[in-house]
Amino acid sequence: MNVEHLNLPQFEPGWVWLAGAGPGDPGLLTLHALNALHQADVLVYDALVGDDVLSMVNENCQLEYAGKRGGRPSPKQPDISNRLVQLAKEGKRVLRLKGGDPLVFGRGGEEALTLVEAGIPFRIIPGISAGVGGLAYAGIPSTHRDTNHAVTFLTGHSASGNVPDTIDWKSLAKGSPVIVIYMALKHLPLIQQRLLDGGRSSNEPVAIIRNATLDDQEVLETQLGRCAEDVEKSGIKPPAMIVIGEVVRLRAALDWVGALSGKVLTADPLGTRNKDLAG
Ligand code: SAH
Repeated sequence: MNVEHLNLPQFEPGWVWLAGAGPGDPGLLTLHALNALHQADVLVYDALVGDDVLSMVNENCQLEYAGKRGGRPSPKQPDISNRLVQLAKEGKRVLRLKGGDPLVFGRGGEEALTLVEAGIPFRIIPGISAGVGGLAYAGIPSTHRDTNHAVTFLTGHSASGNVPDTIDWKSLAKGSPVIVIYMALKHLPLIQQRLLDGGRSSNEPVAIIRNATLDDQEVLETQLGRCAEDVEKSGIKPPAMIVIGEVVRLRAALDWVGALSGKVLTADPLGTRNKDLAG
């Protein structure tokens, strides 16, 4: 692969590059992220960044883990931000790598604000977020003309560890045809209840996607009325995305990962294609 003509940026000492690694499959890294891995002096990474991605780092780079693992408490957010400042002040090329996109439920904004306060120069490298790329690997579009002209991304878990109380669940239930939830497993019973209370149908299709884009990706298809119970029974664990909405039905046609291992796809799961042709 020849990328020299792209003139990818030079990583200068004393800079922090805040990058997303995508949802897991290393093929979903951007060229900018790869360029950063090739030049970084220190890589500060999170739990969701997989070993395949880490193995692409240059051999002189020092690796620093900044996430929760094996029951150890996670470093506090200000500690991580301050560590980035400290490393940059030491004149290192600091790559801060996060799962998905750094600015989507990734606290990248908070870290960047600390860099600005400290006068540290930085670059932001977006990544493919699990809420888009993870769905694509489950054969679920985030928008589709016949089902939804809008999609809402939300977190099921606020900084306090509870269901975010800043979300107006009634309006969400009414106004958003497709709801894609990060970090939702823990509070799924409550989320399910709030959406049903807000008027959503208990028959509405729901998909839970675990380890999206990785070889051990699992997808559980269920319905809003019984999704929490089904998750409990299945034993499915984080990290997982939850998708709620009619768009989930498209998986019967678009599960290209399933098709790789022999699943037979249904051509017209919404029953809308012939109508389209006629119209
Ligand atoms: N910045 C990330 C999100 C970080 S929040 C992004 O843009 O994707 C962490 C949550 O992201 C997890 O709890 C889970 O809900 C979701 N997530 C990230 N990677 C995932 C994956 N490979 N499969 C399923 N969910 C994932």
